[in-house]
Amino acid sequence: MLFLYSRKKNHFVELDSCKVLLYDIIRVIQLTDYYDNRTLAFASTENINEYFRLYILNIIGNSESTYRHYRQGLQTISKYMKEMGLVKGSIYELGSIEQLDFAWKMLNTNEAFVSLDSRGHHMYSAGYRHYHKFAAGERFNSISPKEIVKMDVPVVCEEPVIMEYKIWKRSGILRNQTIEYAGYQCEIDHTHETFIAGSTNRPYMEVHHIIPLQYQDKFKHSLDVYANLISLCPICHRKIHLGLRGDRRNMVDELYEKRKTRFINCGLIIGKEEFEDIILK
Ligand SMILES: [Zn+2]
Ligand SMILES: [Zn+2]
Repeated sequence: MLFLYSRKKNHFVELDSCKVLLYDIIRVIQLTDYYDNRTLAFASTENINEYFRLYILNIIGNSESTYRHYRQGLQTISKYMKEMGLVKGSIYELGSIEQLDFAWKMLNTNEAFVSLDSRGHHMYSAGYRHYHKFAAGERFNSISPKEIVKMDVPVVCEEPVIMEYKIWKRSGILRNQTIEYAGYQCEIDHTHETFIAGSTNRPYMEVHHIIPLQYQDKFKHSLDVYANLISLCPICHRKIHLGLRGDRRNMVDELYEKRKTRFINCGLIIGKEEFEDIILK
């Protein structure tokens, strides 16, 4: 799923990649891969709202009226963000720091908001600044056991959301065969140990697409093929997606060398540079 910010429309739009060139893009947020799901975590607005209040009162030690001041600022910010298509209803929906930073940056391109904030002696940005500290977990490393229990309150449970996003089909049969072929071992290092999976009674392993399925658009032939599948222990799997860039580069370079001939056999034509580019970007 692609969200684009269109300067002309001053609004977020959801687009297929083929239409991208039609728009004046400031930045693209690509929400496709499973491991990016944390950026897809639309927060429950009820609990964030309540926890922000408890944080200001109990952890920061400010008064209820200070909290109300911040909340008022956040309500105005939400209104502007909604108008710009950054949120559906409120800033509390933004479920990660990345989303929050991005939406804030966009909001500050809105001249009406910027001038309102400066006329209001930055009361709106003050609310945001405190909310950002809360969202970033500031002071959380020094919350005492006595303080943390003050955060234990019943919170209204919201309705679940239905989400729609594009996903390339992948075969569970090929996945099992890949793990069988690897002898239930991690193909980065066969000594890596996991645990015995309840479903197979064998060591738990995960299957990774070396060229991620989200780049299927770039290839004429399927990426869901044996040559592009590898059995990994869960730690290596997380690392190849989320580790330090240098570590990831070492891992993917090694896989490229091992599999490049098999890629060609499957019609997956990709040079090493392009391979690194799309995987490490
Ligand atoms: Zn993977
Ligand atoms: Zn491993």
